[in-house]
Amino acid sequence: MTDTATATAAGLDPATLRDLLRVAGAPDFHRWQDQIRRTGGCSDPIHLTGYTKTLDRATGTVLHTYSTDTDPGGRLRVACGNRRASRCPACAWTYAGDTYHLIRAGLVGDPGKGTPETVRVHPKVFATLTAPSFGPVHNRPLSGSCRCGLRHSEDDTALGAPLDPDGYDYAGAVLWNNYASDLWRYFTIYLRREIAARAGLTQKAAREQCRVSFGKVAEYQRRGAVHFHAVVRFDGPDGPDSPPPPWATLDLLTDAIHAAARRVTVPVPAAENQPARTLRWGTQLDVQPIRSADAGTDGELTEQAVASYVAKYATKAAETTGTVDR
Ligand SMILES: [Zn+2]
Ligand SMILES: [Zn+2]
Repeated sequence: MTDTATATAAGLDPATLRDLLRVAGAPDFHRWQDQIRRTGGCSDPIHLTGYTKTLDRATGTVLHTYSTDTDPGGRLRVACGNRRASRCPACAWTYAGDTYHLIRAGLVGDPGKGTPETVRVHPKVFATLTAPSFGPVHNRPLSGSCRCGLRHSEDDTALGAPLDPDGYDYAGAVLWNNYASDLWRYFTIYLRREIAARAGLTQKAAREQCRVSFGKVAEYQRRGAVHFHAVVRFDGPDGPDSPPPPWATLDLLTDAIHAAARRVTVPVPAAENQPARTLRWGTQLDVQPIRSADAGTDGELTEQAVASYVAKYATKAAETTGTVDR
């Protein structure tokens, strides 16, 4: 069989196949394999060249040296760490897994990582805070068709695009994304105030009895607006290791989240042709209690489901919104 025929059979061009055989047959092939394993199969690793030298500060003795010269191709490969599946499936997968375990630990505990299993019984909710409307967009309603009269397919690029581009508040949408982290920060501040008020305590007294912990991810909606998914949990005064006080109930937390989200306003000064505005959360605020998987109550989110959702949202590519994927 000729080179070309073999290459075609393997789905590779002859040059790639020759390269592949060269690497596979190289004496340092195990080092290649090791590097690839350590980067988690990253599709776009960062190539580093250089050296390090560790000296004993007192004596000046060289304790350790490393040079990339000794690695295959004279380079050290480091995973790109991109969270977007469209950029690097391997790194996004790793990130989704890490996120899943992080969120899951916050829900059911992970004593190996310092979160006791008792957090499982702490009151906690899964909250989704969204952006307000900037004008109607093409969508897929649960029943019936889009306002434009069509029934869009799931992958229709028109989804999320304004129905009336001339009337759509593009500037508002851009500003909202830009200030989303401020909106979130104010939300956490107000939430603590609302909790204290409902407990009939000063903020200081409430903090001495109860802590609020957050695990959040930002996601882009089809229309390009950022929104947040968050696990919000009550802990005791010493954090996850201590039980929350009896007044720190699921109902109080849910109620306080709604009140805090309503209160948040972020003023944006006028600039060039843009008037001054006040940014707020959208009215679509969803707060659902999270119960232990074994509690078996219908209609409530289980820990497993929440951890999976959050991991999925965390890596959902921005290009699904049609925005620049960076
Ligand atoms: Zn990567
Ligand atoms: Zn439409």
